[in-house]
Amino acid sequence: MSSTKRIPADVVIAGGGIAGIVTALQLLRGGLRVALIDRDTPERLGGLAPWAFGGMALVDTPLQRRKKIADSPARALADWLRFGELDPADHWSVDWAQAYVERKREVVALCGDA
Ligand SMILES: Cc1cc2nc3c(=O)[nH]c(=O)nc-3n(C[C@H](O)[C@H](O)[C@H](O)COP(=O)(O)OP(=O)(O)OC[C@H]3O[C@@H](n4cnc5c(N)ncnc54)[C@H](O)[C@@H]3O)c2cc1C
Repeated sequence: MSSTKRIPADVVIAGGGIAGIVTALQLLRGGLRVALIDRDTPERLGGLAPWAFGGMALVDTPLQRRKKIADSPARALADWLRFGELDPADHWSVDWAQAYVERKREVVALCGDA
């Protein structure tokens, strides 16, 4: 037997990982009604985030500059390739890492001082 539950909402978000949760919070702050649905069990809400280490990859931020910590996209990429043990032949991974370190400053500038 199946049952149907109606949930009034302005926005439906599929996926209760960190991306879905942050999106839901922003929409709720904006006064919208949000339905967040996830395929997993309620106690596992959060997707991969509960397993994450909390590391943040930031590149040459205003805070680093104020603290006189030298950084650059080239240095960040070199660190990433070494620490992440990326295979240089895996061009998708390397291209993604390169795009990330080069664009990170623009994104941080959009989001505020870090
Ligand atoms: C061991 C580990 C360590 C990590 N350490 C770091 C770290 O130090 N720093 C860092 O920045 N990141 C880290 N990460 C990565 C980070 O956790 C993920 O990038 C991030 O949590 C992804 O969030 P998300 O919301 O995009 O996706 P997910 O967390 O994958 O969430 C997707 C959600 O959507 C749901 N879903 C999928 N398909 C459907 C569907 N069809 N219908 C309904 N729901 C669906 C899933 O059940 C899940 O809850 C780590 C990850 C792991 C596993």
